[in-house]
Amino acid sequence: MHNVLIAPRKYVQGRGALAEAGKYFKILGRRPLVLWDSTVKDIVGETLLGSLAEEGIEPVDVDFRGDCTHKEADRVIGIIRETGADMAVGVGGGKTLDTAKAAGIATGIRIVTCPTIASNDSPTSAASVWYDEDGNCIGFVCWPFNPDLVLVDSLVISRAPARALVAGMGDALATWVEAKVALQTGAGNIAGGVSTLAAMTIAELGYGILLEHGFEAKRAVEAGVLTPSVEKVIEANILHSGLGFESGGLATAHMIANCLPSFPECRGLMHGEEVAFGVISQLCLDNAVSMEEVYEAVDFEVGVGLPVTFEDIGLMEPSREQLKIIGDVCAGKGSLCESHCFKVTSEAVVDAMIAADALGAERKEAAGVL
Ligand SMILES: [Zn+2]
Repeated sequence: MHNVLIAPRKYVQGRGALAEAGKYFKILGRRPLVLWDSTVKDIVGETLLGSLAEEGIEPVDVDFRGDCTHKEADRVIGIIRETGADMAVGVGGGKTLDTAKAAGIATGIRIVTCPTIASNDSPTSAASVWYDEDGNCIGFVCWPFNPDLVLVDSLVISRAPARALVAGMGDALATWVEAKVALQTGAGNIAGGVSTLAAMTIAELGYGILLEHGFEAKRAVEAGVLTPSVEKVIEANILHSGLGFESGGLATAHMIANCLPSFPECRGLMHGEEVAFGVISQLCLDNAVSMEEVYEAVDFEVGVGLPVTFEDIGLMEPSREQLKIIGDVCAGKGSLCESHCFKVTSEAVVDAMIAADALGAERKEAAGVL
């Protein structure tokens, strides 16, 4: 396998970046289809539409209907064909962005993502996560191209709920932890090859940024301010983690996370929160990991308020039989757990999750977190 790195064509981040959307959009096209929901439009609509008007760009304004489903993507594809839109612009969270990407790829037009929260890896990636009409995750697809432009207004993100930024830290913390595993074994990445030195360096950079600036960034966002630490964490959550996960590799942390939505008790969790518990579980599974690294990760998560116990993720004293459902999926054929250099069994995953829960509870108590 070759070393492959994929990335968006342009990444722009800064305070008030959306106010310059027109300047960046006009390089890519003249008729953007803007997909957003009413909440997002209330927050950034005036800024974005004003910026487009300044450049004489009239968008096709489309209300996003809640989930990244095939039906919703088909509806957007139909509107693109009807209106002759030449750019699919997703503004909002991961589901909106993923739908815009799917519609843009299907119609062969430019793709722009404008995340208004930094809670996951969607904005830079060439992937869309699909849901069914009932909101169940039904898998993901990797497109042949990444977005043409990722436009990140850090002021907007800093004013979003702190929980979203913290969830993004959970997703981002996993990137280096999982990429290292995939590198050791030569497991493939989503980019269609194995990782480059660049991808590994970016993944490690993001991990270090979180440990150094994560607490400060959370505090700042809770206080409603945009500081250099917030800018750095936004970059780690969106750019470093986005490139690192896609061109590095995934492993058990994401596999466990992907199993959690099938438990009704876990339905309220954000993706990065699911991954956060997966990270600690993966570290408890892996013989090659030092205890220093385990404590570093769990103490970071406790400090920023990410879930580290079963109770935190909504599972109240789960039985081994319940956890075996996750273990069996993890040990199944084609699982991301195949990235490890040892055979991951169902029993080992169950034991690792129970160990993670006990460790999380102990470190929370030590930190005085209830
Ligand atoms: Zn993720």
